[in-house]
Amino acid sequence: MCLFFVSAGSLLVFMGRKASFIRMTASNAGIFGTVLNLYSKNHEEGVKKKMSSDLLEYVELTQTEISQLDTAQTVFLMSVSPIEVHGYHLPVGTDVFIAEELLGRYAKVLREKHPDLSLVKLPPLYVGSDALPSLGSLSVRATALEKILIDYGKGLAKQGFRYLFIADNHGGPRHQLAIAKASAVLWKKHRFYLIDPFNLVFRRMVQHDEELFERTGLGPGNCGDDPDSHAGTNETSLMLASCPQKVRENYSELDPSLPAEHTGGAKLVLALARSLMKVGAKQAGRDLEHLANTLAWVSSNPMKPYMGDPKLASAKNGEAMLNYRLEEAIKLFDRALQGEPVQIKPMLWNLRVLRFLPE
Ligand SMILES: [Zn+2]
Repeated sequence: MCLFFVSAGSLLVFMGRKASFIRMTASNAGIFGTVLNLYSKNHEEGVKKKMSSDLLEYVELTQTEISQLDTAQTVFLMSVSPIEVHGYHLPVGTDVFIAEELLGRYAKVLREKHPDLSLVKLPPLYVGSDALPSLGSLSVRATALEKILIDYGKGLAKQGFRYLFIADNHGGPRHQLAIAKASAVLWKKHRFYLIDPFNLVFRRMVQHDEELFERTGLGPGNCGDDPDSHAGTNETSLMLASCPQKVRENYSELDPSLPAEHTGGAKLVLALARSLMKVGAKQAGRDLEHLANTLAWVSSNPMKPYMGDPKLASAKNGEAMLNYRLEEAIKLFDRALQGEPVQIKPMLWNLRVLRFLPE
């Protein structure tokens, strides 16, 4: 497969160079030149046609080719997630691998629904905050992630583009807050859409949304909620559906990793969460409860590098979750393409100041 892409790429480069050479010589070459000019024109039209029908790779385009894109009709797609330890059975690129699968599905549906759009893929951004504090994770502070996204968005907005749709599979609180903040800044300053559907769906997974359960057939403990939050049933299922060859065989032999006891800071945060719920601030309380559960796990000793029960995973469950996430993403993208503002407030949005805490 790789060999094919290398060969096809080299051929395109060769054809491109040949076309330029032909253009230069054909202008002085009479009838022979006319024939060659025709060849050159057909080649250019072929390139243009290709640009409107495929998922283009931004880094493969020249400045000229980028300038030929219709800015109002071009959608950029990019995966954003950290390099993070995912148990003993999934690779550290897991979140990006799942995101890339989702991105491919986004592109397929967008292509079918909106044939006039040009779809351009940016290389995956292996950057994310609040990665599991375990040797092997490469976590990046939230403010750095935020700035990268703002600068990417600004760079696209300066050229007149309007849409950057994100595929993401990371539930770290500051990761989500940083992306949402970048999205808000880009909207305010440039009327540019940076949309990360996971910031919406993740809350539903954690807080047991009934409609999500109905549509996926999933439920508490296998939907990526707190007891299944990391490399457990849900994420292993997503990997079995996305790239089964990357799942190590030991996944079916691992013991479940169970929720940890709340001690120290986690206990305090849980007490605060419960007080908020008692006085009617239900949403804020539930968000804090999630933070307390996460803190309890990452401060447990020894901390298992996964949370949940990987051996219950199945490609069927992963497929159900991917489909749900795809449908919800397309709804948001359609709203953006119709010109509606789309701002998602992820969990703990009221505590977005947490972004400034060091990793
Ligand atoms: Zn993950």
